[in-house]
Amino acid sequence: MKPVSFEYLAPRTIAQAVADVSESGDVAVLAGGQSLLPELNARTRRPDLVVDLGRVAELRTSATDDTTVFYGAMARLSELDTNAFPALTAAIRTIGDFEIRNRSTVGGTIVYANPAGQFLTVAAALGAQVVTVASTGSRTTELPDFLRGAHKTALRSGELVTGVRLRAFARRQGFAIVGRHRRVCACAVENDGLVASIGGMRQTTIVLSGSDLSEVIDAVRQRTADPYVSGLAVAAVRRAVEGMLR
Ligand SMILES: Cc1cc2nc3c(=O)[nH]c(=O)nc-3n(C[C@H](O)[C@H](O)[C@H](O)COP(=O)(O)OP(=O)(O)OC[C@H]3O[C@@H](n4cnc5c(N)ncnc54)[C@H](O)[C@@H]3O)c2cc1C
Repeated sequence: MKPVSFEYLAPRTIAQAVADVSESGDVAVLAGGQSLLPELNARTRRPDLVVDLGRVAELRTSATDDTTVFYGAMARLSELDTNAFPALTAAIRTIGDFEIRNRSTVGGTIVYANPAGQFLTVAAALGAQVVTVASTGSRTTELPDFLRGAHKTALRSGELVTGVRLRAFARRQGFAIVGRHRRVCACAVENDGLVASIGGMRQTTIVLSGSDLSEVIDAVRQRTADPYVSGLAVAAVRRAVEGMLR
C-alpha cells in the first residue's frame, strides 16, 4: 500500500520546525522513519502534513559538561558517544540490527515509547530528562513522567523533542536483556544504593530503588502479580547487577 497524499516540509532550523509542526491539521514529525514510514505505508497514520527533521542540523548536536550528557533528538543511536555510560553502550548493541541503529534517532526512540525499549530503560536509570520545545517555549520533563504507556507520551500538539539529558555519572552500571517471546530488559546503576529500571515488565519503563539487590527484587515482585513476568524481571535485574560487578 502507499501512503495517503500529504504536504511535506523540510525545515532547516528548530524555530522553523516548531512553526511547521504548529500548522493546523494532523501533523506527523519524521525523524529516521523507522516506525513512521511503515505506519504511513500501512495507512495507520494519515497525516495532512509531514515535517521532516532531517535537515535540522541543530538537532543532531550533543554536548557534555561535568555532570550531564545531552544527546540531540536527531542524533542516531549508532553515532552516540556513550563512553560515560557503559550500560547504554551495551543496550544499544541489542537494538535491531546495524541498519536499524543507523537510522533510529534519539527523539524518535523516545516518542515511539516502546515499553520494552532498551534505550529508554537505560536512560531512565541514568536520570534522563526529555527536553521539548513549542512556540510557547521549552520545557524539561523527567523521562518516567514523559512516558505515559505503550507508545504514549506527554508530548503536546505543536511540540518537538529537542533531546535528552542524562544525569548520572555512576561508574558501576550494568544492562541485561532476557526472554524470547516476551523480552524484559533491566539497567542497574549504583548510586547511593541501587537503582534499577525495567523495560517490558509493564506498559512503560519503571524505575525502582533500594539499599541493596534484595530490596530491589522485593520491589519488582510488588509491581506484578504475574509470576512469569516477575521471574523475567528478577532475572534481568540480577544479570544487570552481575554485569555491573564485572
Ligand atoms: C525492524 C525494527 C527493529 C527494532 N528493534 C528495536 C529494539 O530491539 N529495541 C527498541 O527499543 N527499538 C527497536 N526498534 C525501534 C527503533 O529503534 C526506533 O526507536 C523507532 O523505530 C523510531 O524510529 P525513528 O527514530 O526513525 O523515528 P520515526 O519513525 O521517524 O518517528 C517515530 C515517532 O516519533 C515521532 N518523532 C520523531 N522524532 C520526533 C521529535 N524530535 N519530536 C517529536 N516527535 C518525534 C514521530 O512523529 C513518530 O511518531 C526497531 C525498529 C524496527 C523497524
